[in-house]
Amino acid sequence: MDRGIVYLVGAGPGHPKLITVYGLECIQKADVIAYDRLISKDLLQHAKQDAELIYCGKLPGKHALIQEQIHQLLVEKALEGKIVTRLKGGDPCVFGRGGEEAEVLADAGIPYEIVPGITAGIAAPEFAGIPVTHRDHASSFAIVTAHGRVDKGEDRIDWEALAKGIDTISFYMGIGNLPYICSSLIEYGKAPDTPVAIIQWGTTNIQRTITGELQTIEAVAEKEQITHPAIVLVGKVVQLRDKIKWFESIQETETVNV
Ligand code: SAH
Repeated sequence: MDRGIVYLVGAGPGHPKLITVYGLECIQKADVIAYDRLISKDLLQHAKQDAELIYCGKLPGKHALIQEQIHQLLVEKALEGKIVTRLKGGDPCVFGRGGEEAEVLADAGIPYEIVPGITAGIAAPEFAGIPVTHRDHASSFAIVTAHGRVDKGEDRIDWEALAKGIDTISFYMGIGNLPYICSSLIEYGKAPDTPVAIIQWGTTNIQRTITGELQTIEAVAEKEQITHPAIVLVGKVVQLRDKIKWFESIQETETVNV
């Protein structure tokens, strides 16, 4: 029997049309689709009728399938000769463990492709009217996971380099650590009045955005009860939202079909 293949596919940030044509084709031709929690379920409608759909989703802190089981599943199905599409939110290699899964497949000698996706840390700000770079306001941009806990020795962030050297910072998985993010940036030199936006469920029809400053955003987030999934975006570019926000105005006239 032919060996199968695994496509590690980025499903995009939430809106079902924000997947690449290549990614969509991988869904259409798959025998097996192993999908994560944050993908738009509408995408699964494009699967073949007899495709096997396997949920590998994770709630923060909880695991439906643990990572080793996912690795095993991808290898087993590919060895059965199947076309396997591993569908991940955003981009597969931005905090998506795409790299780890590719390593396992490479070790097992299984053919695979990595299909990029639009990552939430860029797309959610854009849907909130915030460009992550801008000629007048930001010439550097960093994507950072804020999920590591300092009290567990998991924080590997160079806060000083971030605070002093980067104009726009997009924090993923940052909601639980919001006070720590803000205080660390201030401690290492970012101005306390640096603008901050938090975009929850970016690009979906339940997108919500709040804005404030490093010194005030925690209180706003608490009041508005912002929860996962959300991007915490720090930098002067946030100010552009006042002028170029657009999502809220189209929402008034039509419902985005997500
Ligand atoms: N691979 C994904 C990121 C996975 S990590 C990507 O490239 O986008 C999960 C984190 O991504 C969440 O905790 C949240 O910070 C962010 N995220 C994913 N989807 C999001 C969305 N629609 N809106 C806001 N943040 C989102």
